[in-house]
Amino acid sequence: MSTEGVIYRVAGPVVTATGISPKMYDVVNVGNEKLMGEVIKIVGDYSIIQVYEDTSGIKPGEPVSNTGMPLSVELGPGLLTSVYDGIQRPLPVLRETMGDFIYRGVSAPGLDHQKKWDFTPIVKAGDNVTAGQVLGTVQEGPMLHKIMVPPGIAKGKVDSIKSGTFTVDEVVAVIDGKDITMVQYWPVRVPRPVAEKYQPDVPLVTGLRVLDTMFPLAKGGAAAIPGAFGTGKTVTQQSLAKYSDAEIVVYIGCGERGNEMTEVLTEFPELEDPRTGESLMKRTVLIANTSNMPVAAREASVYTGMTIAEYFRDMGYNVALMADSTSRWAEAMREISSRLEEMPGEEGYPAYLAGRLSEFYERACRARALCGEDGSISVIGAVSPPGGDLSEPVTQNTLRIVRVFWALDTKLRERRHFPTINWLTSYTMYDKQLIEWYKENVAEDFPTLRAWAMKTLQKEAELQEVVQMVGSDSLPDEQKVTLEVAKMIREIFLQQNAYHPVDCYCPIERQHVMMGLIKKYSDLADKALAAGVQVDKIVYLPVRTRFNQAKYEDNTDAELKAVSEDMDKQFAELGV
Ligand code: ADP
Ligand code: MG
Repeated sequence: MSTEGVIYRVAGPVVTATGISPKMYDVVNVGNEKLMGEVIKIVGDYSIIQVYEDTSGIKPGEPVSNTGMPLSVELGPGLLTSVYDGIQRPLPVLRETMGDFIYRGVSAPGLDHQKKWDFTPIVKAGDNVTAGQVLGTVQEGPMLHKIMVPPGIAKGKVDSIKSGTFTVDEVVAVIDGKDITMVQYWPVRVPRPVAEKYQPDVPLVTGLRVLDTMFPLAKGGAAAIPGAFGTGKTVTQQSLAKYSDAEIVVYIGCGERGNEMTEVLTEFPELEDPRTGESLMKRTVLIANTSNMPVAAREASVYTGMTIAEYFRDMGYNVALMADSTSRWAEAMREISSRLEEMPGEEGYPAYLAGRLSEFYERACRARALCGEDGSISVIGAVSPPGGDLSEPVTQNTLRIVRVFWALDTKLRERRHFPTINWLTSYTMYDKQLIEWYKENVAEDFPTLRAWAMKTLQKEAELQEVVQMVGSDSLPDEQKVTLEVAKMIREIFLQQNAYHPVDCYCPIERQHVMMGLIKKYSDLADKALAAGVQVDKIVYLPVRTRFNQAKYEDNTDAELKAVSEDMDKQFAELGV
C-alpha cells in the first residue's frame, strides 16, 4: 500500500489526490508546502481531502503523503490558557512564525514540549491500574491536572513511577513494560469513553436569574441560544463562561466577521475569574476560527474543542463548552459539501447536517469517568440564523436535539430588556428532573414560586392583548395588579445587567429571595384589594423603587431584607 501520491485536482479547500490508498479521516500532507488535510471521501483511487490551510497556488502533480493517522489532539498539561486554531495549533506560535495572515504548512504541536511540570504520583510501583485511572497530578494554574492511564492500556501493573519535574514527553511511569508520559493523543471525531452515563439531574448554576430560575440547563445537557445579530449571544456565552459553576471552560469561537473574533481574542484573556480574581484563561481553552482561516479548520474545530472538553471531564471535572456560533460551523459544512458536489439538502446544507449536529450535541453528558469520579460536559451552542429567522435548517435541526432553548429576542433588545431571553418562547425540558435538586438545595417552595411566576407572565401576555384593544382603564382591579406584578417580575427579576459589578451574578439563594418578595407583594396586594384599598395606592407604594434598586447595591441581601420590612410596613399603613 502506497502512502505517497499526487494531487489530481484542487477546488478551494477540497483537493483530490491519487495513489495514497488511505482510510477515511486519515490525515495527509498536501503539496510541496505539506499543507495539512483530512481524507473525507474515497472513490476508487481518488481520495478527496479537505485541507485545513489556504490552498491557493497549490497545483495538480504536487506530492501528497498519507500519515495513516486520524486527526488527533495532544492532551496533557499546558492545555489551559491555550488559544488554538481549529486543528489545535497554538495561535501565538502561528503568529510568530507567519505573521497575522498566512497560515500555511506550519505544524505546531498543541502543547509546549519544552516546559517542565511538577508531577506528583498518587499510585506506586506494584499497584494494579486500569484505563483512565489517575496516576498522578500536576498543578496547572488553579487546576489540578490529573495524569491518567492513557487509552490503549486497559489494565496493567505499575513497574515504576517517578516524582519530580518533567516535560510532557519524558517518561513518568512504566506500566507492564510500557513507557508512560504526560501526553496522550486522541482522534477528535471519536468520543472518549466513560464508565457510566447518568441522567442529568443537577443544574448548571449560572447566576443568571432568567436561566437558573426559569429555564435551567442541567449539567451534562445541551442548550441552544439562537438570536439575530446583536441580541446578546456572545455576552451570554461569556457570562456563562465566567460565572457558571463549571470548573473548566472550552470556548469555540467561529466568528462571522474578522473583527468579531479579534474581539474575542482580546476580550477573553481580559475576563476576570470571579473565583480567584485572576484571569479566567487559567481554566479556559480557547479555540478561535478567524474569518481568514480556511473553512475545513472551522469544520474540525468543534471536534477539537469537544475532545479537549472530554479529556477534562475524564478527570472528574464539570466542563462548560460554548460554541459561538454553530451557524458558522454549519456553513463550513455547507461549503465543503458543495465543493464535493454532493446533493444539497435544505437551503444548500448537506443532508447529513442533522446527523452532524446530533453527533456533536450527544457528546454532552454527565458521567462517571473511567477514573471513578463524576464529570460532565454542558454544551451551549449559539445559533445565528440569518435575519433572525428561526425556521432555517440549522436552528430547526438544533432544536430537535437540545433540550433547552434560550430564545433571544430582537424586540426585547429594542426595549433594552437584557438579557433578551424571551420568557414566553424559551423552554427547558430539564425542569422535572431538576425539581428535587432545587427543593433540597435552595428551598422547598422554589418550584411552586417558579410556576407562579411563569403563570403570571403568561397572564400578562394575554392581558396585554386585551389592553391593546380596549385600553388598561377598563380592566378589573385584580388584573391591573397582575400587570404590575408581571412588570416587577420582568424588571426586577428577569432583567439583569451583565456589565454591572453586583447584578452580573445573582446567587441562586438570592434569586429565591427576590422572587419570594415579588410573590409577597402580589399576595399583600390581593389582600389590600379585598379590603377595599384603591388600586393606585397599592401599585404606587414607595417600596417598589427601593426594590427596583436593591439588586445594584453592594449590600443587596441586606437591602432585600429591608425591602421585605418596608413592604410589611407600607401595606400595614394601607390597613392590610
Ligand atoms: P450577538 O453575539 O448576539 O451578536 P452580543 O452578545 O455581542 O450580540 O451583544 C450585543 C450588545 O448587546 C452588547 O454589546 C451589549 O451592549 C448588549 N447586551 C447584550 N446582553 C447584555 C446584558 N445581559 N446586559 C447588558 N447589555 C447586554
Ligand atoms: Mg456574537
